[in-house]
Amino acid sequence: MELRERVGKIVAALKAAYPEARCSLTHGDPLQLLVATILSAQCTDERVNQVTPGLFRKYRSAEAFASAPDGELEAAIRSTGFFNNKAKSIRGACRMILGKFGGRVPETMDGLLELPGVARKTANVVLGNAFGKNEGVVVDTHVGRISKRMGMTRQKTPEKIERALVKLVERGDWAVFSHLLIHHGRAVCTARRAACGECCVADLCPKVGV
Ligand code: SF4
Repeated sequence: MELRERVGKIVAALKAAYPEARCSLTHGDPLQLLVATILSAQCTDERVNQVTPGLFRKYRSAEAFASAPDGELEAAIRSTGFFNNKAKSIRGACRMILGKFGGRVPETMDGLLELPGVARKTANVVLGNAFGKNEGVVVDTHVGRISKRMGMTRQKTPEKIERALVKLVERGDWAVFSHLLIHHGRAVCTARRAACGECCVADLCPKVGV
């Protein structure tokens, strides 16, 4: 079976297995998702979701984040780790959103990449999940590990893995593809153990390195 066809079948099987797969960062609008995604660096989504309800009650707009007093924002996000850098990124991004983008989170890859502290992965999360735009595939540790085990790529860096995946996955599925692999990576194909005997795509997977 050709690789693209096999990937299509894998995506269909994972959609059937995880119909609830979606962005696991709680958010109500693009700004909240941007902030939550910045907070999720080196931190679990679960932990971020514990912090954001209170954070979003306290800071309700880009203005509020941009003008958060020194130390106050840092304290509010402390438990997500690297809080000084994250606070700097959030303040900086919100200042640019106000100064350059009319107070709205930009809806393009180029615009998002201009924001301080926003790299391609964060931009892909925001575009795919807040704006419904499939501009790329989010490659995190689960997506990287499983796409290699599934024989979709041998690349090692997230950028190169993404370039391989966008050639294999239907564009309309780019955003959901990451969520499906993340769900599968938590439930079945974990870093410590690939439970191939319980896997819904076992007959489609070459189990590279397993
Ligand atoms: S068959 Fe095994 S290696 Fe392949 S996706 Fe399933 S659990 Fe992972």
